Amino acid sequence: MHKVLHNIDKLVFGRGAIAQVPDQLQAWRNEGSGSVVFVIDHYFKDHALLEKLGIRSEDVVCYEDCDVHEPTTQQVDRLRDQIIEQIGVPSAVVGMGGGSIMDIAKALSLMLKQEGSSSLYQGLDLIKHAGVPHLGIPTISGTGAECSTTAVLTGPEKKLGLKCAWTVFDQVILDPELPATVERDHWFYTGMDTYIHCIESETGIHQNAFSRAYGGESLRLCREVFLGPDAGQNPKNDEQLMIASLFGGWSLTYSEVGVCHALSYGLSKILGYRHGFANCVAFQHLEDFYGPAVSEFKEMLGTNAVELPQGLSRDWSDEQISAMAQVSWNLPHMWIHALGHDWQKRISPEEIKDLFKRL
Ligand code: NAD
Ligand code: ZN
Repeated sequence: MHKVLHNIDKLVFGRGAIAQVPDQLQAWRNEGSGSVVFVIDHYFKDHALLEKLGIRSEDVVCYEDCDVHEPTTQQVDRLRDQIIEQIGVPSAVVGMGGGSIMDIAKALSLMLKQEGSSSLYQGLDLIKHAGVPHLGIPTISGTGAECSTTAVLTGPEKKLGLKCAWTVFDQVILDPELPATVERDHWFYTGMDTYIHCIESETGIHQNAFSRAYGGESLRLCREVFLGPDAGQNPKNDEQLMIASLFGGWSLTYSEVGVCHALSYGLSKILGYRHGFANCVAFQHLEDFYGPAVSEFKEMLGTNAVELPQGLSRDWSDEQISAMAQVSWNLPHMWIHALGHDWQKRISPEEIKDLFKRL
């Protein structure tokens, strides 16, 4: 059976596109209660841009601080319960922020129509009912969460997405003016998430002409943004990276991620490392899996004057390393893609621990 790609219904791309949000929400407002829940990264609290969203008195605005931790099942459950108590089921959910907010908005849209905790639905096709319509406005580029069919949450037991046909945003507004204020290191780490998505997508058994086409174009854009003569943060690169992120998201959705993401999930779950940073920390030591791409990645670090910490594992206990290896081991879809269906013959839990010890 081939994968079915569930995709965004409507997409707007262009400078200043955020001003079209009120129009895009109108049809949804005309149905149901008419109120909209806005989940917004706390960075934008009191920001002038919010005036463009057409927020009304009957709406609910939630500012979420994604610096404290990556999105959790408890966080989504709390938001869902609070909203249901305040206004019942809204007509729509809007998420404005980075990958964290994209995932919270997607998960919230689903959980407004499900019973119990979101931790019950971490996995593939466990969601029972369609969520409420949802619109994403990414403000930092790289995760591909704006187009992916998963809402990644950290729960009491695992870091795993709510993955189903209804997870993907119905509408996405891609406004390349929004990431202009992203702090440089975040810009680099999250941008590298796209680069690594595409390298992993093309290096494994699930790669195909579709994933290679989007991944190849995304890699070309990444090379311009991070290595080209105008490398760095500027308006043209903000446009290019926004599209690279989108294409990278489609590439990995129709293929799979691999070894770097399997390690990165361990780093995030056990040590709380942020996704983009965790990927970078791991990728620099994966020459034997991703050879020339690791050299290119190091060139990108140099061109953009970003330094990654070394020798981190010296401060980790054997217990922590074992726990991270366990998180990684429990992501068979990534290992199958990277190493083949007989991956358990090709790598052992002990060897995964050794990969963490390299970091
Ligand atoms: P993020 O959403 O955690 O945000 C990073 C930082 O950037 C925050 O401090 C935020 O306040 C700030 N920020 C965002 N936009 C800004 C702007 N325009 N100006 C200034 N500051 C801004 O970062 P991220 O790397 O985009 O997202 C990481 C999350 O995405 C992780 O939780 C990861 O699991 C998830 N993810 C999801 C998918 C998916 O397919 N669903 C894929 C990859 C990663
Ligand atoms: Zn990623």
